[in-house]
Amino acid sequence: MRRLLWLVCLVLTVMAFPVRAAGRLEVVASFSIIGDFVKNVGGDRVDVTTLVGPNGDVHVYTPTPADAKKIADAKLVIINGLGLEGWLPRLIQASGSKAPIITATKGIAPLRQGSDADPHAWQSVANAKVYVANIRDALAAADPADAEVFLANARRYQAELDALEAEVRAAVEKIPPARRKVISTHNAFGYFAAAYGVEFVAPEGVSTETEPSARDVGAIVRQIKSAKIPAVFLENISDPRLVRQIAAETGAKVGGTLFSDALTDEKGVCPTYIAMVRHNIKALTSALGN
Ligand code: ZN
Repeated sequence: MRRLLWLVCLVLTVMAFPVRAAGRLEVVASFSIIGDFVKNVGGDRVDVTTLVGPNGDVHVYTPTPADAKKIADAKLVIINGLGLEGWLPRLIQASGSKAPIITATKGIAPLRQGSDADPHAWQSVANAKVYVANIRDALAAADPADAEVFLANARRYQAELDALEAEVRAAVEKIPPARRKVISTHNAFGYFAAAYGVEFVAPEGVSTETEPSARDVGAIVRQIKSAKIPAVFLENISDPRLVRQIAAETGAKVGGTLFSDALTDEKGVCPTYIAMVRHNIKALTSALGN
């Protein structure tokens, strides 16, 4: 009898394993945009946990002990690379995780930002397709039983990205070439600029961290006039009087918010990558179009 019980236990244990193997693949994504890509490719076969969530700053993140736990539990960790997640190697070491670390930008020729690689490769939709292909291959390798599903999901999502790319090109086409130029405090649009031909000029001598002074505003006004820049996106200026002053003295349009490094939560304007690119294109065309 005891022998029989033991056998039943053994059989039940063996039976339990395929159930676990058929469960969702636990994936950690370093930040919200990669998390969205993984969701689109993984669908219902994957549980995605994002370390730097909506509206978070992935450049200066301070990981928590809960993050180490998430990484310890993950079967796969997917990161941007190109120096974006400087805080990650220590976190991985602290977690003791042996999960493969997949760099989603593998195969993308990086642009330079000063002496470093520019990490914001996702701002070109063509590059986003490379991210998706890398994620698809990583998920399929980690969970071969669901490879077909990942392949089909990736194909469907890549087609959406193709349509998005065409949308961006058509929108930029409508802006007169001489007006394809903005001042922006973001330094995140190098890949967008290179892919679509909209120039992003940094405000000269102005801190991007603090509220600009009257003198900063004077410098911005001179820069807009001399470089004939039709629109400015200055999100760190919260004082509406300064914004009105710039618009009044230069005739430049002061645009809304451009999203670069993080999605918003579900209730925000950019809960997905595709929504983010559409939002930016709308903001740019309404500020730059005639
Ligand atoms: Zn950035």
